[in-house]
Amino acid sequence: SGKEPVRLAEGIHSTLILLNHKLKSKHIEVDVKIPDDLPEINGWSGELNQIWTNLIDNAIDAMADGGRLEISSEKDREFVLTRVADNGPGIPADIRDKIFDPFFTTKGVGQGTGLGLDIVQGIIRHHNGSIRVNSDPGCTEFFVCLPIQ
Ligand code: ADP
Ligand code: MG
Repeated sequence: SGKEPVRLAEGIHSTLILLNHKLKSKHIEVDVKIPDDLPEINGWSGELNQIWTNLIDNAIDAMADGGRLEISSEKDREFVLTRVADNGPGIPADIRDKIFDPFFTTKGVGQGTGLGLDIVQGIIRHHNGSIRVNSDPGCTEFFVCLPIQ
């Protein structure tokens, strides 16, 4: 089916509602900053929601009790740039180039499929966007860049 104008704020807020129980039970504080006048993305809303679900899910898994999740979006020239950040332990340098590989997981059997970031990357490619990660102990940031048109 065709692309349609998508409001990222709506998808991010519905994702947070779906994950609300998990966030609450780990006492994770959530901070969302998305300007009201953020341009819409021309895309597939279901796919875009899968990006937020998978990134937030990973952030939740990474954080111990009492973490902080930050999500913000801004217009950057002809793109919308979204940052999803957590204050978990970070991604060890030696696995950073493997995290987007299908079936790569550091989680236990039955806990991780290793497909989350592979799916995220596929969806972002489908939207002609890009993703990058910046990680240090105490802060992991995923930056999702999606073209406005
Ligand atoms: P899964 O969550 O099933 O393990 P993903 O593809 O979603 O698979 O993630 C792959 C791996 O990347 C994770 O197992 C974890 O080691 C690492 N990772 C992803 N996001 C984070 C994060 N926010 N903090 C620390 N590690 C992360
Ligand atoms: Mg995952």
